[in-house]
Amino acid sequence: MPESLPAELVDLRERLQAFVEEIRPLARGIGGGEGDPVPEDVRAKVRERSKELGFFGMTQPREDGGSEASPLAMVVARETLAAANTPLARYVFGPDPALLRRAEGDVRTRYLEPVLAGEKSWSFAFTESRGPDAPPKPTWAVRDGDDFVVTGRKSFVTGGATADFFATMVNVEDGGDPGPTGTAMLLIDRDIPGVTITRDFHSMEGGGHVELSFEQARVPQVNILGAVGEGMPRAMGNISEERVASAATACGIAMWTVDFTTKHITGGPEGRRLADREGVRLRYSDMRIDTYAARAMLYRTARLLEAGDEAINEGAATKVFCTEVAGRVVDTAVQLVGGQALIVGHPLEALYRRVRSMRLAGGASDILRLTVARGIVEFDTGRL
Ligand SMILES: Cc1cc2nc3c(=O)[nH]c(=O)nc-3n(C[C@H](O)[C@H](O)[C@H](O)COP(=O)(O)OP(=O)(O)OC[C@H]3O[C@@H](n4cnc5c(N)ncnc54)[C@H](O)[C@@H]3O)c2cc1C
Repeated sequence: MPESLPAELVDLRERLQAFVEEIRPLARGIGGGEGDPVPEDVRAKVRERSKELGFFGMTQPREDGGSEASPLAMVVARETLAAANTPLARYVFGPDPALLRRAEGDVRTRYLEPVLAGEKSWSFAFTESRGPDAPPKPTWAVRDGDDFVVTGRKSFVTGGATADFFATMVNVEDGGDPGPTGTAMLLIDRDIPGVTITRDFHSMEGGGHVELSFEQARVPQVNILGAVGEGMPRAMGNISEERVASAATACGIAMWTVDFTTKHITGGPEGRRLADREGVRLRYSDMRIDTYAARAMLYRTARLLEAGDEAINEGAATKVFCTEVAGRVVDTAVQLVGGQALIVGHPLEALYRRVRSMRLAGGASDILRLTVARGIVEFDTGRL
């Protein structure tokens, strides 16, 4: 399943499964959490072998030397890697340029190219800080000579502690020199005056994040991605692909969990297995039904993207549904396995924390539900 995949994608899935089994011994002794440290020599081995086998460049544009895979191929790849449940899966693909992909001219040479070469790393600074001491408005910028002067506070900037620069969403206001106003995506170097990491923290799945403060930080006007007014469209440029990527990972996690649960409930002598109890079968069937429905939705949406169709509503719905299914499936598995699954270090314990984060990261479920409703009520678009 899904049976109708073309032969080359079935082949891709099988080659990735073989690759994961080849590297799995390297993961011995490494925890399953997102933040569990993986030694650099292990990461390097995974990257090198991934390059040899042709997987590394799948997330990178062809014009930059990558082997950019199609949306459907990426879904197959991400789902397969997640279904393998190994912490080494994170190192299979090369740096994904994401919204930097459309960088041109000077920002292309100074930022995108070093990122693709692995010489620079970056983080996405979009979410505004909340709370009583937060700035009065979202991060803003005014022109002054050749610079933008940026003020505000961003939170939950993943990987920010080690990033060389931040792709930061700002609102350009009328304040200093004249010019257009609106949202803009600025590339802000981490070490310039006025940029401070005010908090460094981890979320429950293990990811590392920072809160950033901008106090009159002077950013050259040439450090803009595109133009003023294009900030939000740039941030949302490949949002459907990102949501579907998250859904593919969620489906892979659900698949691994169903498989694990099958082995657990069918272990032991017949008649005394958990699977011999009707109540357990009901819970177990729900896990399979949910996973089947999520994968059907995932592949339907992936095929829309593969065909080049607009799929904002479907991408949002798929992210909500698949991440919520993964949450239910892992939760049920914990219940069926019992207290053992709660012991720190148990694979279900790590997955439980991971799937919980997925319903917020990349867009909270209820906010995406509003996107779906708006698509229908206000724009009358989509196929839901
Ligand atoms: C693991 C992880 C990684 C992240 N990485 C990044 C990153 O790299 N860069 C970045 O910028 N951000 C990042 N984030 C932040 C993430 O994008 C936000 O947490 C998410 O978009 C939700 O925003 P919020 O936390 O401000 O919650 P809020 O917007 O405050 O929403 C909280 C809750 O309030 C309810 N709610 C809010 N508004 C409405 C409404 N209009 N109608 C109905 N209900 C509503 C919903 O239940 C919602 O879940 C990350 C988050 C996580 C968990």
